[in-house]
Amino acid sequence: MKLTLVQITTLALMLLAGQETMAAPTKKQRLVEPKRLRNDLKVKDLRRGAQKLQDIAYATKERNRVFGSPGHQATVDYIAGELRSLGGYYDVSLQPFTATYAEHSAEVSIDGEKIPKPSTFTYSPNGEFNDTPVVLVNNLGCEQADFPAAVEGKVALVKRGTCPFATKVSRAGTAKAAAILIYNNAPGDVSGTLGSATPGPEGPYVPVAGLSQAEGEKVVADLAAGKQVLADVKLDGIVEDRTTYNVIAETKGGNKDQVIMFGSHSDSVVAGPGINDNGSGSIALLTIAKNLAKYSVNNAVRFGWWSAEEYGLLGSEHYVAQLTQAQKDQIRLYLNFDMIASPNYALGVHDGDGSKFGQSGPAGSAEAEHNFAAYFKDIAKKPIIESEFSGRSDYGPFLDAGIAAGGLDTGAEGLKTDEEAKLFGGEAGVAYDVNYHQAGDDINNLAMDAFEINSKAISHAVATYALSFDSLGPKTKRVEKRAQGPEASSKHSNHRCGGDLAAI
Ligand SMILES: [Zn+2]
Repeated sequence: MKLTLVQITTLALMLLAGQETMAAPTKKQRLVEPKRLRNDLKVKDLRRGAQKLQDIAYATKERNRVFGSPGHQATVDYIAGELRSLGGYYDVSLQPFTATYAEHSAEVSIDGEKIPKPSTFTYSPNGEFNDTPVVLVNNLGCEQADFPAAVEGKVALVKRGTCPFATKVSRAGTAKAAAILIYNNAPGDVSGTLGSATPGPEGPYVPVAGLSQAEGEKVVADLAAGKQVLADVKLDGIVEDRTTYNVIAETKGGNKDQVIMFGSHSDSVVAGPGINDNGSGSIALLTIAKNLAKYSVNNAVRFGWWSAEEYGLLGSEHYVAQLTQAQKDQIRLYLNFDMIASPNYALGVHDGDGSKFGQSGPAGSAEAEHNFAAYFKDIAKKPIIESEFSGRSDYGPFLDAGIAAGGLDTGAEGLKTDEEAKLFGGEAGVAYDVNYHQAGDDINNLAMDAFEINSKAISHAVATYALSFDSLGPKTKRVEKRAQGPEASSKHSNHRCGGDLAAI
């Protein structure tokens, strides 16, 4: 059954209301202090938590923790169970929502030669076409006129760039192409998402697969030489609605009108167990939430573990969408942690003041960056870089709702620069996480030193803001300036853990 938003919200409120009746802890607790909470953080707890998530994934036949899977449900149950075992320190709720699950496989041959690893696009329809002529689309296939009439019943070939994948695929659909191949405009994979299971006004979807730049350019050259090129294209996959859960935990103690919120996504991609992305952020928050339970707080501390981030920030979007304005106003700051132990890491602090990437956030976002920067400089004595504050992880919906935000990350598929290698060690010219969204994102993929450094920084932030919001400055209604590029129109479907485009 697909729940409506109203039904889901009602259910969530019922769950919350049910827990208000539970007894609050009675014993007198010491007020939290940043240094104590930092010292409570133990690497062995991080390692044990990461191992637990891997064990959960590998105990299922899917060997992953993708939303709607047994591995993800076990992750949710594990997190909630750990939080509920803390003597009622937290109100813990599971917030259900329904999202469209999609999983695809592609097989492509060109003139009888198998493409080794054609990529897939989330929400592609299924289909199989053999010995079908390939027709080159003009320009970048962003306009209907770019599609020649000859593409009808054939396999369209188009280069990546300028407009969302969904536009190219829908225009191919309107032109009655059998299928479409999108080749990359740069080295590397071209996989991404159509953003929604439902096509927009540009036209119906057709089966779509991705080729590398070299594979695409070879076909273009053959076509330019007047050769006929025949393709076999087979798309196979599942697209279905699945119910999944966010986990929300809030201290029973502390001022409920002054909430500091910390979040990370609990789901992985299909390809693997997702231990850096984002077991690292999830386990850091769980470990710190457990450590916090022996202290009292001045401000309420709330944690969120989001589901279906990998399908477009769906859990955090759902959560923010069901908040009333009054509830939004109670959240002074939201801090996000998505990939904090990348093997070839840089220590990134989200550029909340926009000094590097030109995108700032509501009042408090700049201060959140400065507070992290001061912590790394003065206490941790570690270098940092500013990382892009693009909204392409679960803090995006909070920014859109006018809530100040920030966070830490250690990089995804981007390449480490020479300068970063000098600052942090590791290898320049190599991805921060070579196993990003791959089966190899397992416990051996973690940089335990980065995991510890960042988890201590988060401990410091939890304790600091649990005590006071003074360092965040006044909460004024500042309208943030955020870039509205073509990708912004497709909402957060172009999310990418660690930042990058996945929809264009
Ligand atoms: Zn992630």
